[in-house]
Amino acid sequence: MGSTDIYKCIIIGSGPAGYTAAIYAARAALQPLLFQGVEPGGQLMTTTDVENYPGYPNGVKGPAMMDDFRKQAERMGTEMRLQHISRSDFGSHPLRVWTMEGEEFRAHSIIIATGASAKWLGLESEKRLHGSGVSACAVCDGYFFRGQEVAVVGGGDTACEEALYLSKLCPQVHMLIRSDRMRASQIMQQRVRNAPNIRIYWNTETVEVLGAQQVEGVRVRDKQNGRVYDIPVKGFFVAIGHTPNSEPFRPWVETDEQGYIKTQPGSTRTNIAGVFAAGDVQDKVYRQAVTAAASGCMAALDAERYLSAAGLH
Ligand code: NDP
Repeated sequence: MGSTDIYKCIIIGSGPAGYTAAIYAARAALQPLLFQGVEPGGQLMTTTDVENYPGYPNGVKGPAMMDDFRKQAERMGTEMRLQHISRSDFGSHPLRVWTMEGEEFRAHSIIIATGASAKWLGLESEKRLHGSGVSACAVCDGYFFRGQEVAVVGGGDTACEEALYLSKLCPQVHMLIRSDRMRASQIMQQRVRNAPNIRIYWNTETVEVLGAQQVEGVRVRDKQNGRVYDIPVKGFFVAIGHTPNSEPFRPWVETDEQGYIKTQPGSTRTNIAGVFAAGDVQDKVYRQAVTAAASGCMAALDAERYLSAAGLH
């Protein structure tokens, strides 16, 4: 098939949600077309070891796991394209999307599984040591730092969750807040304050992540008195928010104020008939590979039911 045909199901995104949706859609004979984007594999391509995905008793490297997902989706008959979708028109049926190069594709159903991107501080040292002690996911990588001191940057609910998770594994968690207040909910702030091994640094800015091959510490600046000093840590967790990759669909699909696509409770349905959302683009709470995969499965089942009910499958 190609750009002149109407697909039964187009899947956008190639993380666990997209590939799982493809496996289910292909096995339901929806002959899905999956757009992998220009950097296929999603956030797992930047992780090292994944030890919390069931079925891999010895753990697996993130990129190797995504390669397995891709192969399985391909073997079931998914058509894949290494192209990025940058625009959509869900104002009428068939639904339409465009690649960055301007090629148009049409479908009766669309599954958006474009994920979310972690925000970073933008320091050169943070980039260089990413995967060598710098992480944006405590649940993914915290285990590798058990028994060692770590730092968490950020003062939102995510940062609090990360700090609390790490406080169970690490003797000391240093929480770096750039202002004199946290944005997190009161209950999360209270939990952080009650944790005996979380030390909060107010008005503290990260200047540099220290270390040649691995993180050895973090250099910070006290914004009130200008003092610059180092905190020795082995892990540096950035938890300053995520950006859901929903821009190409925002004119049509309802999102919350941060851009996460709204789905109807208990389903992957969006406000547009035939458009479904799965994975981190609609989930700011769990954000795990296994929960993304599960919602990809749900989206394919929802799409199949929608197409059957509409007499399109
Ligand atoms: P938020 O946007 O809520 O918080 C981001 C935090 O990072 C703020 O403290 C912000 O500081 C800080 N920050 C931003 N940029 C920088 C920077 N360059 N340097 C240092 N600090 C920085 O993001 P979250 O990911 O925490 O949460 C997103 C949404 O998801 C929220 O609505 C949250 O409630 C929700 N959520 C819910 C959970 C749950 O229900 N279990 C779990 C996790 C998140 P400042 O305040 O100064 O801007």
